[in-house]
Amino acid sequence: MKYFIGNWKMFGVPGSINILDKINLFNLRDRNRKKYKVIITPPYTLLETFAKNFKSKKILIGSQNCYHKDLYSSNTAAISPYMIKKVGAKLTLIGHSDNRSEGDTDKILKDKVFFALKNNLKIVFCIGENKKQKKNNQTLKVLHKQLTQVLEKRFNRNNIIVAYEPIWSIGTGKIPNQEELLKTILHIKKILRKIFGKRIPSIIYGGSVDETNVQKFRKINEINGFLIGGASKSSKKFIDIIKNYYR
Ligand code: PEP
Repeated sequence: MKYFIGNWKMFGVPGSINILDKINLFNLRDRNRKKYKVIITPPYTLLETFAKNFKSKKILIGSQNCYHKDLYSSNTAAISPYMIKKVGAKLTLIGHSDNRSEGDTDKILKDKVFFALKNNLKIVFCIGENKKQKKNNQTLKVLHKQLTQVLEKRFNRNNIIVAYEPIWSIGTGKIPNQEELLKTILHIKKILRKIFGKRIPSIIYGGSVDETNVQKFRKINEINGFLIGGASKSSKKFIDIIKNYYR
């Protein structure tokens, strides 16, 4: 199974549902559709409408983050995994570098993972090194820490997707070379085996994936899909990413 996850970040109003409509139309016609799942993570404000509209269709809706407490809290503007689940979302991103840079520590992320899974949300756990860490050859060490400080064997690996998103690649148009990427993905697999045993969560890649470069990732079988930011806001680009991947 491959995942094509569109992360809309701070984008979209109720009328933007037409983007999903177009993706959905393509999806229903596409012969390859059994091989992949399409997921869109709009802002919180659109979760309920989008989830309701695409309930019986092929597009799943997820949130971009969640608060690290269950049910309710007195924290202003916080949205819990329980609240996300109740409006019909099926999954949540956790640990995106945008949120790590705003103060999400490993301890907070572990609580987020715990409560999201407890509320039956699938999670997409994002990890990745920054430019400086890459330059200093610290990538593997950074990824090891990000994974082992948060994920535990007791978490249901079937509900976890790990997204490798090098920060230097997000929104920059730069992607890792194949050799480098394969080495990193194999390293992530090794760490996940240490945590979970033989059967491990799926691994996807994120960072400047678009309709022109997606084929480059095809050779690496270990990559089970993509987290797509910028290019997911256009139905044409998003559909072309899927088409070109299978071409
Ligand atoms: C992201 O923000 O998760 C992302 C992958 O963005 P982009 O595709 O724009 O690099």
